Amino acid sequence: MASADSTTEHGATAQILSDPLSGRKVIFAPSRTKRPGNFEARREPATPGEAEKCPFCEGREQETPPELFVLGAANGREPDTAGWKVRVVPNLYPAFARQQVVVHTPTHTRSLADVSDEQLVLIAESWAEAAERAWAQGFDHLLAAINEGKAAGATLPHSHSQLVWLEQAPPEVAAEVSRLQRDSCALCALLTDLDPALKLAERKLGDRTVSLAVAPTGRAPYELLIAPDDHQPDAFGSSELLGAALALAAEGVRRLNAVEDPSPFNAWLHNFQGDGHWHIELVPRLNTFAAIELGGGIFINTLLPEEAAARLREAPL
Ligand SMILES: [Zn+2]
Ligand SMILES: [Zn+2]
Ligand SMILES: [Zn+2]
Repeated sequence: MASADSTTEHGATAQILSDPLSGRKVIFAPSRTKRPGNFEARREPATPGEAEKCPFCEGREQETPPELFVLGAANGREPDTAGWKVRVVPNLYPAFARQQVVVHTPTHTRSLADVSDEQLVLIAESWAEAAERAWAQGFDHLLAAINEGKAAGATLPHSHSQLVWLEQAPPEVAAEVSRLQRDSCALCALLTDLDPALKLAERKLGDRTVSLAVAPTGRAPYELLIAPDDHQPDAFGSSELLGAALALAAEGVRRLNAVEDPSPFNAWLHNFQGDGHWHIELVPRLNTFAAIELGGGIFINTLLPEEAAARLREAPL
């Protein structure tokens, strides 16, 4: 059988790449129309009076379901009153038996980009605390995710994360397990062989390092990957390292927003109860996934990772 010809009808070469973590198929199709500022989706600006009616802001605790727990509580604080730093409440419209919202800050903060490093460590602690509670109730996976902007599915503008308790790893995590086993880990290999041009930043905690890079085979323009350099399955075992990873995510969003104006994005933690290598994927939602992505499972990315990294690195912060 003849092998397929990858030369396009105009003579250029289109190559279908395979993402080493997921196996997802990606084609880079750089387009001259995709200069900075030429993407369609943008983060919506604040509406008048938005903060004054925000149910996540401190002082409006009665407008959410009763809280599950808070971090940084003031001495003698009563539940569902002011005086907290991070607040975890049940989702008002859950799709799952256990689905919670982590309110990232007491004041009206519209983006992860504006959350302080100390606060990000508390958010990591709240995820770890929720994971402990999930394991104690017989659940096997905690999916932690952040949606920001209407185009990314967020319904409230105050920075928050979603926690979903699952009885088993969701399909996207399950699909990565076999590729991320110690001694044959595709993420260890990716980080070791990473083109230095794609790496944007790193944070060190003792002898451990967590890195922020443009994903070499991202499905969307400016897709970011954040992971510890050493092979670790469970992010919930070290809130400080996970907090550093969230701080790198926030830096990535600041760089993205400086290049493209405030941008919607989805981010999530891929965490492993058995073997695996935890990481955060951050997917800006500047483009729209269409039939070839959704129906074919082949993602067309119009921005080369080297170009994305060059723009993000030079972003005026
Ligand atoms: Zn608010
Ligand atoms: Zn690894
Ligand atoms: Zn992943």
